[in-house]
Amino acid sequence: MPFEGFIEAFLFGAMLLDSREAVLEAVRAVVRRTLASGGAGFDLWASPHFLVVHRGQISLDAFWRGLEEGLAEAQVQGLRGCVVLDAVNHFGPKHGHAVLDLTLPGLPPFVKGFSTGGLEGCPFRDWAPVFDRARAAGLRIAAHAGENGPGSNVREAVLEGGVERIVHGLRADEATFDLLAERGVPVDVCPSSNRALAPDVVPHPLPRMLRAGVRCALGTDDPGVIPCDLAMEAAAAQAMGLDATALATLRRNSAEDAWCFQA
Ligand SMILES: [Zn+2]
Repeated sequence: MPFEGFIEAFLFGAMLLDSREAVLEAVRAVVRRTLASGGAGFDLWASPHFLVVHRGQISLDAFWRGLEEGLAEAQVQGLRGCVVLDAVNHFGPKHGHAVLDLTLPGLPPFVKGFSTGGLEGCPFRDWAPVFDRARAAGLRIAAHAGENGPGSNVREAVLEGGVERIVHGLRADEATFDLLAERGVPVDVCPSSNRALAPDVVPHPLPRMLRAGVRCALGTDDPGVIPCDLAMEAAAAQAMGLDATALATLRRNSAEDAWCFQA
């Protein structure tokens, strides 16, 4: 699937999130998938600015209430969950500030992080002031990097953007894997997303990343667009030749690094 196809599917899915009930239903779907895969929690990327301001299809209050109710139901079912604010990388830092302008006043306690997604079109050094502002507001910082953009984005996100958690990272070189390992930067590896959006990166570098000591964990990235769940991602990891010890390391890293499990 080329990125344009992905965005088309994303836009179509996003259109459905137009009420508190619809957002609640979306969280319920995440809860069902998490339980079915034997997961204990989830970090949920959410795009309030896109839905509330750009599309104007839901109020911020209704969006937060749908998430709050969904997370409360998740907790009743024994799952931990938190929300990560998503900003669109290729819309640039001005858009990033707009996301924070919208969300920081009255930010619900279940929002724990801020992340860029979308096309890696804007240099991460330009995002640094936005990340600084989000961090000052108590948010953790992540970025989707090294999937649809060059591997050098991963190094730049960490060294110049101050990003503390990478989603993907798969185009990074060995020196960058070493850097991620040294600094203990968690990396969410999402095989289904990678297969669809970075089909040229073969074989998948996950075994090399683990050998380098990178704190990798498995993630689903966009199950609403690219159908997958954690069990499928684990099967994909196993198909890369990872043994039981490596698979256990992936599970342990997610338990230790996922923000939903942290205070
Ligand atoms: Zn991604």
